[in-house]
Amino acid sequence: MPITDPEKLRIALEHRFNYKICRKCGARNPPRAEKCRRCKSKNLRPKKYKAK
Ligand SMILES: [Zn+2]
Repeated sequence: MPITDPEKLRIALEHRFNYKICRKCGARNPPRAEKCRRCKSKNLRPKKYKAK
C-alpha cells in the first residue's frame, strides 16, 4: 500500500533514516546520541535521508 499523503511519507522517512551509526562498531544509535550505546565511542556519524 503506497503512502499517498506527503506529510505522512515525510514523517515515515524521518523515522527510518534519522539515526546515527557508530564508526567503530556499526551500532545504530538515537539521532541525539552523544556516544555509542554499545561501545561508548563518540565516533558517531549521522545517517540521514537523502532526497533523490
Ligand atoms: Zn559503537
